[in-house]
Amino acid sequence: MRDVRVIQNFIAGEFCGPQDGELMDNINPATGSVLSRFPRSKAADMDAAVQAAQEAMAGEWGQWSAERRADLLDAVAEKITERFEELVEIESLDTGKPRSLARAVDIPRARANFRFFAGAIRHQSTGCHIMGTPQDGAVNYTLRKPVGVAGLITPWNLPLYLLSWKVAPALAMGNTIVAKPSELTPMSASVLAEILDEVGLPSGVFNLVHGIGPEAGQRLVEHEDVSLISFTGGTQTGKRVAATAAPLFKKLSLELGGKNPTIVFADAQLDVAVEQSLRASFANQGQICLCGSRILVQAEIYDEFEKAFVEKAKAMAVGDPALDTTQVGALISQGHLEKVESYIELAKQEGGRVLAGGKRPRLEGDAASGAFLEPTVIGGLSPTCRTATEEIFGPVVTLHKFETEEEAIEIANGVRYGLSASVWTSNLSRAHRVSAELDTGMVWVNTWLLRDLRVPFGGMKDSGVGREGGDNSLEFYSESRNICIRLDA
Ligand code: NAD
Repeated sequence: MRDVRVIQNFIAGEFCGPQDGELMDNINPATGSVLSRFPRSKAADMDAAVQAAQEAMAGEWGQWSAERRADLLDAVAEKITERFEELVEIESLDTGKPRSLARAVDIPRARANFRFFAGAIRHQSTGCHIMGTPQDGAVNYTLRKPVGVAGLITPWNLPLYLLSWKVAPALAMGNTIVAKPSELTPMSASVLAEILDEVGLPSGVFNLVHGIGPEAGQRLVEHEDVSLISFTGGTQTGKRVAATAAPLFKKLSLELGGKNPTIVFADAQLDVAVEQSLRASFANQGQICLCGSRILVQAEIYDEFEKAFVEKAKAMAVGDPALDTTQVGALISQGHLEKVESYIELAKQEGGRVLAGGKRPRLEGDAASGAFLEPTVIGGLSPTCRTATEEIFGPVVTLHKFETEEEAIEIANGVRYGLSASVWTSNLSRAHRVSAELDTGMVWVNTWLLRDLRVPFGGMKDSGVGREGGDNSLEFYSESRNICIRLDA
C-alpha cells in the first residue's frame, strides 16, 4: 500500500493521536482507494478535549475583546485564501464533489463565514429598554456572555463550509470549542485546526476530535461540561442528540434533513425554472440539505417542463471530480450509493417511471471503482409515496403534476420535513401568498440557494429546531443576560 497521510486530533494546542492508537481508513469515494487515516477517538480523547476547552475558557481567551476576536477571524479568512487551492483539492478528494464546486462554493463560503462573523461582532448591538422617567425609572440592557464549551458536530456533505458556519460565530462570541467532524470527511477540519493554530488562537480554545458518531459524537453530547451543542446531520441522529442533550439542559441547535419542494407555476419563466431546478436537484450530487428533490409542475406546462428537464439531466457530465467539465461527481460512499439505488428500486415498485439516469455510469480508470450515479429523474409517482416523501440525499428527483395553487401547497406541505422550498412564478401576489403558506424555514422565489448570511437559517417540523445565521447565531452562541439599573438611585 502506498503511504497515506495520517490525520490527527488537535487537543490543548497539540496535534496528537487517539489515546488507544486506533486509526480508521478514510476512503476517496471517487476511486475507492484509501486517502488518509484518522483517529477513531473514544470517550477518553473527548474528555481530554472538553477539559482543555474548559481550562481555556478560564484562561487569557476570556479576556480577549470582541475587536481582537474579530481580527483573529479575519486572519483565518486570509489563511484560507493562502491555502485556497489546497483546500479545494482536499475537499474534492474527501467528498467526491467536483473540484469546480469546491472552488466556487465550499471554500469561498467557508472564508465568507469567518469574514462575516468578524464584521458581525464588530458591529453588533444589543438591546436597551428604558422604563418610566429619568426621575422614576430604570434602564435595562442586554449583556451577551459566552455560553462556555461549544460542541460542534458536522456532516460530510459540505465539510468545511458547515464547520466554519459554527466555528466562526462560536469564536466570535468568545466560546471555546470541541468539534467532531464527520468520519467520512475528516480532512479539511484538520487544515482548519492548523490555520487556527497559526493565527495565534490560545491553546485549548479550538479542539478537534475525529471519530465515529456513536463513540466520539455521543460522548461530546453527553458530557456534562459541554454547555451547547450545534448539530447538523440526519433527522434520526438529531433525535438521539436531542434525547441525550435535553435532560442536561444544553443549548441546542439542530439542522436536520429535508425533502424540499421546487414549485413551478405555469406563469414562470420556463427556461430559467428548468435550468435552476436542475441545479437545485443535482448540485453536489443532490447531497445538499436544501436541494429541491420534489419538483411540482403546473399541469399546463408539465409536458414541456418534463421534456426540457429530462433532456438536460441526461446531458450532464458525470465523472472524475478533478475535471473542469464534470458537473456531477461521486456520492459520498459505496454504502450511500447503495441506499440511493434502493430508492430507485422502491420508486419502480411504487409505480414510478425512470425518465433519466437510474444507473451507474461506465467510467474508465480509477473512477471505475467510484461511487457514481447518473442524475436520475422519476415521473408518474404519487406525491404521498415513500420515494416522494422520504429524504434520499442523492441525485434523484421526482416530478409531479398539480392543477391549482392550493394543491401545490398541500403537496409541498405533505411531508414531515420543513427545511426549504423554491417557488417559480412571475405573479408577485402569488409569490407572497404561496411563500406565506409553506411550512418551511426558508423559501426562495425565482432563485435557489441564494444565501445572505444575515438571515435566519433553519428548518421546521422534522428539519430541525432553532435558527442560526446573522444575529440568530450571535444569540445562540451566547447567553443573553438582562441588567436592570434604577435611574434615580
Ligand atoms: P449523520 O446524522 O449520519 O451524521 C452527522 C454527524 O453526526 C457526523 O459527524 C456523525 O459522526 C455524528 N453522529 C452520528 N451519531 C451520533 C451520535 N449518536 N451522537 C453524536 N453525533 C453523532 O448525517 P450525515 O449522513 O453525515 O449527513 C447527511 C444529513 O445531514 C442529511 O440528512 C442532510 O439533510 C443533513 N444536513 C442538514 C443540513 C441543514 O442545515 N439542515 C445541512 C447539511 C446536511
